[in-house]
Amino acid sequence: MNAAVTTELRLISHWIGGETVKGGSGRRGPVYNPALGEQTGEVDFATPEEIDRAVAIATAAFADWRTWSLSKRADLFFRIYDLFDEHREDLARLLTAEHGKVLSDALGEVQRGLEVIEYVCGIPTLLKGSFSEQAATGIDVYSIRQPLGVVAGITPFNFPAMVPMWMWAPAIACGNAFVLKPSEKDPSASILTAELLKEAGLPDGVFNVIHGDKVAVDAILQHPDIAAVSFVGSTPIARYVYETGTKAGKRMQALGGAKNHMVVLPDADIDMAADAAVSAGYGSAGERCMAISVVVAVGDAADPLVEAIKERLPKVKVGDGLDPSSEMGPLVTREHRDKVASYLESGPAQGATLVADGRETAPDGDGFFLGVSLLDDVTPEMDAYRDEIFGPVLSVVRVGSYGEALRLVNENPYGNGVALFTRDGGVARQFQFDVGVGMVGINVPIPVPVAYYSFGGWKSSLFGDRHIYGPEGIDFYTRTKAVTSRWPDPKTSKVDLGFPQTR
Ligand code: NAD
Repeated sequence: MNAAVTTELRLISHWIGGETVKGGSGRRGPVYNPALGEQTGEVDFATPEEIDRAVAIATAAFADWRTWSLSKRADLFFRIYDLFDEHREDLARLLTAEHGKVLSDALGEVQRGLEVIEYVCGIPTLLKGSFSEQAATGIDVYSIRQPLGVVAGITPFNFPAMVPMWMWAPAIACGNAFVLKPSEKDPSASILTAELLKEAGLPDGVFNVIHGDKVAVDAILQHPDIAAVSFVGSTPIARYVYETGTKAGKRMQALGGAKNHMVVLPDADIDMAADAAVSAGYGSAGERCMAISVVVAVGDAADPLVEAIKERLPKVKVGDGLDPSSEMGPLVTREHRDKVASYLESGPAQGATLVADGRETAPDGDGFFLGVSLLDDVTPEMDAYRDEIFGPVLSVVRVGSYGEALRLVNENPYGNGVALFTRDGGVARQFQFDVGVGMVGINVPIPVPVAYYSFGGWKSSLFGDRHIYGPEGIDFYTRTKAVTSRWPDPKTSKVDLGFPQTR
């Protein structure tokens, strides 16, 4: 394995056709250990010619891979599952080293990705078509699902193992060949993934990794031999990727950013809601697309809730993700930490109350740390409310009624996740009916659907018409073919120039 964690500066190169391929562009990006604030590696940035090469190799591999029987593919995916299970800690350590998330959280990420691999072990059932016998006299009609060809995935920094698994596992199980362009900020997990897939027995060329920036992304979006692209990242780039890819004739799904609200009604269990707000607001340093960013405190819930959240904050242990006592790690880069910290200036300047200032509680040293931060009395016009902060800054918006809370959520341009905390089943049911958000939690703060449902937001959180993984993932990576079939029956055979009738 060449993806071991070391403190030396190491080069992370592409993976094409089952082997490491050193980049030839001369352009590279830095990779950091965010807990130490030190550069630990360099990653190659691909040229369009390198993308061409990866796609040509994937195209050649696809021709054979699509002929593998479903049972052989299922056998292989069971082996892939076992191998990733065996190496879950190796993957998690790479995530902690480059992303900064604490090891327990990194293990959780790998676990949620493994569940998608487990789901696609059932690929023979998932690809079942339909059959109508005797649709017309002597004629049967059936549909079959076929792979698209070479498909690509472009992924964000915040889940460097799991989000690629959401894509490559269903894509490959469906019979496609795959080209991954992971985030340049934490690229090593994708190389360990490639090595494990090869070791499990996946034929060379079916899974390829190309590192890079906009140059690589644009080459993927314009490549004539890439049939479909899945993207996960921020909303402006998701919109660009979706529009560019669809214009080039590709099937596209592009998942974007988020601003997730947690509505707390006065009848909610305040301690449970406060535990949930702290866990979902600061877990992974708030760098989750399903993190809670805004607590919407309704009526009398506000004072006790803010007090209960505030009480919990000094107990959150912030530190190096490899220290088992740490509950929250650093942010991914220094620039991102500084951007997140800027909301602790702009929030109060625009009228919010700074209840907890993470700049004062960040651990010493060069790491990209910011402590847990809380802004109260936030209003919808403030930057802290309008922007996706993507860091450990939780905002509290106080509203007078359930209706006001619902309106706030529905008027927000994002629609990824939302949570409602209440003891009233009737209100919860009405909320699930009314709310314009793709993933809803009832007393559950981070409602990431299990692997046999599909993941995706609404509005500016997703461009395209298919959610990711689960049944919609299988739909995305296949196309159906309808066959109308008649076998010769000499008894009924005659010449008939009329339009085929169904009776
Ligand atoms: P990002 O949009 O900066 O980068 C995502 C990918 O796009 C990376 O591979 C990157 O190299 C590439 N990219 C960046 N700039 C580009 C450009 N100008 N042109 C073409 N490609 C470009 O996102 P990020 O900072 O890596 O990840 C965090 C974002 O991802 C947050 O907004 C978060 O909400 C979102 N996210 C969404 C989901 C979801 O399921 N909706 C899941 C995880 C993360």
